[in-house]
Amino acid sequence: MRDAEPSLRERGALLRAALENLVGETPLRFMEVCGTHTMALYRTGLRALLPRKLELVSGPGCPVCVTPQEDLDQAIALASRPEVTLATFGDLVRVPGSEGSLAQARAGGADVRVVTGASEALDLARHLPQRRVVFLAVGFETTAPGTAAVLEEARGEDVPNFLVLNLHKTVPPALEALAAAPDIALDGFLLPGHVCSVLGVEPFRFLPRTHGLACCAAGFEAEDLLLALVDLARQVRGGHREVTSAYPRGVRPGGNPRARALLERVFRPCDASWRGLGVLPRSGLALRDPFRRFDARESLELPLPAPAPPNGCRCGDVLAGRLAPRGCPLFGGTCTPRTPQGPCMVSSEGSCAAAYRYGGKEVTTWNV
Ligand code: SF4
Repeated sequence: MRDAEPSLRERGALLRAALENLVGETPLRFMEVCGTHTMALYRTGLRALLPRKLELVSGPGCPVCVTPQEDLDQAIALASRPEVTLATFGDLVRVPGSEGSLAQARAGGADVRVVTGASEALDLARHLPQRRVVFLAVGFETTAPGTAAVLEEARGEDVPNFLVLNLHKTVPPALEALAAAPDIALDGFLLPGHVCSVLGVEPFRFLPRTHGLACCAAGFEAEDLLLALVDLARQVRGGHREVTSAYPRGVRPGGNPRARALLERVFRPCDASWRGLGVLPRSGLALRDPFRRFDARESLELPLPAPAPPNGCRCGDVLAGRLAPRGCPLFGGTCTPRTPQGPCMVSSEGSCAAAYRYGGKEVTTWNV
């Protein structure tokens, strides 16, 4: 008679024991760079069950959070123009800028609409031909193909009043900056499953090669995350750092060729500013020439965003893995999900929001 397959609970216990064994008494420090991973690690309770010497630091995985204050200020100024309807995601509307949020601008009369994506914004433009409808686009390689597809549609149809304030970013350059930062001192990255499903894992191979870091793409269930953490610990303890995937049902070799081709047709790499990381070379996606007439910055002649004054929020340090959410002096006092002082407390993928909602007795410093 064949042995019964181990249950999910048994598999989880086996994986936790394997991880405990591999980590042992020598500290390991990994970073997760996907907001959905951050949320899943808290929501499933997995973060609280990790081995004592394994430190899992949250990184810049939330696209709303990495949007710098000055870009947000520019979007708010744009939304206040009488001819503009600004359409964007719900989380962005609540993020505080230097002088209020998009929600506050809307309360003051600005036409700000919440949409689920670029396609809905394009529909708005079709239905409001007398308005200039600007889609405020944020997101990594996961959402950028959606914007690209809509831009091709708008170009094919020649929709004259549709524009994009394009703040899309790409993940590999951010990981390069983090890998090179000596004060962050990581042993490896839990690679973002959604981004890897578009790009494949190939664009991350420089991380073990140049920086000696272990990398593993992970899915979003507790078992997926444990499998990836075991893989990372095994790489480090075995002295063989590479790029692997513990998410084969989502990540195929080469990623998603159609999505990658779309990105290639519509965007070209450009420098971009990240909250917490500064300006990173070739980490943004500018519109290629055939699509430039949809660029809100060019068409509406927006001035370059001015540097934003500091407001005490430490999201920049949280996003760079230099500070745990509870290490921010404003956490849970001035800053809560009802009174957010920074994007990490607003976004559904923000690490401060996750720590507030699920964190329990969470650490105030990442150091083990
Ligand atoms: Fe910013 Fe609030 Fe997080 Fe502090 S707790 S880093 S103010 S979002």
